[in-house]
Amino acid sequence: MLQETCPVCGTPLFRRGKETFCAKCNQPVAIIKNAEDESRLMAEKVLENSEQTLLAKIQEMNTALKSEKDPEKLAAYGNALTSWLDAIEKLRRLRERPS
Ligand SMILES: [Zn+2]
Repeated sequence: MLQETCPVCGTPLFRRGKETFCAKCNQPVAIIKNAEDESRLMAEKVLENSEQTLLAKIQEMNTALKSEKDPEKLAAYGNALTSWLDAIEKLRRLRERPS
């Protein structure tokens, strides 16, 4: 049993695997201790969403790239790909930063 209680029903929470769980509500609970935690959680969400968007774009570009013959466009795709991959690498590094 943990010290924290469920924000919905007030029952003490349990740790179940990686998540915090309320037995009474029968669902996982995200514990936000303070504003700093909250903004960190929000930042993580934003970084995660950005990475998803970039990966989706890379996949779209990969499809376009397969049928592209124009060398200028190919070079432009290449540049875009490089900067998107850089961005993903940075996003991942930010997310892995110990809190
Ligand atoms: Zn509860």
